[in-house]
Amino acid sequence: GEPHTAVLQRTTCPYCGVGCGVEIVSNDGGATLAVRGDAAHPANKGRLCSKGSALADSLTLPHRLTQPLKGDQPLSWDAALEEITARLKAVLADHGPEAVAFYGSGQLLTEDYYVLNKLGKGFIGTANVDTNSRLCMASTVAGHKQSFGADTVPGLYEDWEQADLVILVGSNTAWCHPVLFQRLLAARQSRGTKIVVLDPRQTSTTAEADLHLPLRSGSDIALFGGLLRAIADAGALNDAYLTAHTNGADTALAVAPDLPAVAAATGLSPVQIAAFYRLFIETPKVVTVFSQGVNQSSHGSTTVSAILNVHLATGRIGTPGCGPFSVTGQPNAMGGREVGGLANQLAAHMDFASADDRDRVRRFWGAPRLAEAPGLKAVDLFQALVDGKIKFLWILATNPLASLPDANLAREALAQCPTVILSDAICDTETARYAHFLLPAATWGEKDGTVTNSERRISRQRAFRAPLGDAKPDWWALAQIGRRLGYADAFAYDRSADIFREHAALSGFENQGRRDFDLSGAIGLSDTDYDALAPFCWPWKAGEAPGASRFFAEGGFFTPDRRARLVPTPMTATASSTSLAFPLVLNTGRVRDQWHTMGRTGFDPRLMAHLPRPTVALNPRDAATLGIAEGDLVQVTSATGAMLRLAEVTDKQPSGEVFASMHWNGAWCGGGAVGRVIAPHVDPLSGQPELKYTPVAVSRL
Ligand code: SF4
Repeated sequence: GEPHTAVLQRTTCPYCGVGCGVEIVSNDGGATLAVRGDAAHPANKGRLCSKGSALADSLTLPHRLTQPLKGDQPLSWDAALEEITARLKAVLADHGPEAVAFYGSGQLLTEDYYVLNKLGKGFIGTANVDTNSRLCMASTVAGHKQSFGADTVPGLYEDWEQADLVILVGSNTAWCHPVLFQRLLAARQSRGTKIVVLDPRQTSTTAEADLHLPLRSGSDIALFGGLLRAIADAGALNDAYLTAHTNGADTALAVAPDLPAVAAATGLSPVQIAAFYRLFIETPKVVTVFSQGVNQSSHGSTTVSAILNVHLATGRIGTPGCGPFSVTGQPNAMGGREVGGLANQLAAHMDFASADDRDRVRRFWGAPRLAEAPGLKAVDLFQALVDGKIKFLWILATNPLASLPDANLAREALAQCPTVILSDAICDTETARYAHFLLPAATWGEKDGTVTNSERRISRQRAFRAPLGDAKPDWWALAQIGRRLGYADAFAYDRSADIFREHAALSGFENQGRRDFDLSGAIGLSDTDYDALAPFCWPWKAGEAPGASRFFAEGGFFTPDRRARLVPTPMTATASSTSLAFPLVLNTGRVRDQWHTMGRTGFDPRLMAHLPRPTVALNPRDAATLGIAEGDLVQVTSATGAMLRLAEVTDKQPSGEVFASMHWNGAWCGGGAVGRVIAPHVDPLSGQPELKYTPVAVSRL
């Protein structure tokens, strides 16, 4: 008979922003756990990718942190929390709240994020609460807010299946959001969807494309600016939508480049570009999916605006099969955005810039020291550490020494900070070596809470086993500090449901349709309701049933005049350019079976078997010029630093560009971390670093 019959728990995959539902099942004896796709979850309808399918193999992680440590000395939670609180109080007394910072992660659950944000911004009084989401989708947040007045993803996953044209921009969707890609391919079978992929490289995604545009890295801004002009020239502007619901079309059009300028910037032929423009103009149902290739750029937020512009200009937004669509990397990057877990956000889609919002949040929390202005974004935060301005740093669920640009500077930053606390599930990361206190965090399968996927769908992550050793949920440790600072009532949470209800209440507090993010329908959830909560897309307004809905088909933007803004997007160069010394462009990204800095996937032999070595891919022509052969040990050098990799010579890589995966780091291969090579150039609006364009030289060792 069936070997796996009993469903023990239903939860959500911890890996990516697709947010697939999984079932934890046991065999007849109950001894062995297995994981399978949850057929009832709307995000994946039973599907899983290679990483999700392997989840059961990673339940026993090596190097688990099972008790608090000070240096390498174990201590009780009580002793650790007492000492951390004493150090925090001393820093506050001597240097003020700006000397305190938190650096979190899109891996945190929404409830962890909520308590982190509340403690930092409301009760300690520091807005230095940033996360690794800054490296992931901060430019989308900035772009959404500029155009829509709020960080709103207008559409739903089903739009991918209802579109006749899906444009994938800067995304190897087949590897990075595999289940969404499977859904798209299945829809294509039945409706003949056209797929256009914009990517300098040939990938598993471009292999499925009807049209692949191998544009130069960093030039997508020109391609979409030119598309706006082409739409206008073809008489395809949606004048009714523009007139009723937008401002700024003329200003945006005034700087839109013409076809020869787009061809010069992108390296594409005018024929290729015109074919793409024609397809867009002639296909009413279009979804434009964009991801890290757009975000991780020194002009990422403007490129996002260029993409939003063409959808606003054609009124193709918020209706079935239409809209711009950002896909997030991390499982809960969206939940973090909802909570306000970035240094330039306040809380629940409320802003520092608004005195009313600040007053609202202060009153709701009963906050004694609400931060009044945005704090330091990730790259600036680590620079402030180097400058000695931050004296107390608490890092949660991330490994910045492996993921931040200019890894050498980040190392110096941590080495200088008098108090570094790391909450993590594992203890052998590079960052852990610099932490004065290590706090054991409960991990996937052990903790309860919610996550939000890329279509605004909130799903429960449910525990199905006890935390290992003394591991605790992150919200618990943060709340303990809040209580020890004297705010027992504000942090009197007994379980994650308490926090979710408060989060829902804040989202609805004096909202009245002012803000897109509204969970007021969830305020009255009982503990049992919360445990049984079925996946739903926000908004969930009081008095209404939760249901999947789209935004902006009839306008209703969240700007003061309720109109969208078309933002001018002049062609913009990358922060640095190639030179005789650094003639190649380094692009970075993920590979199919690894996740982040390999803290979980790296321990699974099945997943490691896919691409087991840290490589740098380069075109055969470049390899021949440099005297490099397949498998050679090479040094990749930039103005910032150097790393070692093994050469992979492939004609899938365009000449003039090289590619290295982001996952490998010092814990796995001493010289392999890409962060050593990448300069900390950021988008001026979003603060997101340019991880996709670094001039480098490659030489054989
Ligand atoms: Fe998990 Fe993402 Fe794969 Fe779904 S697509 S199973 S969420 S890694």
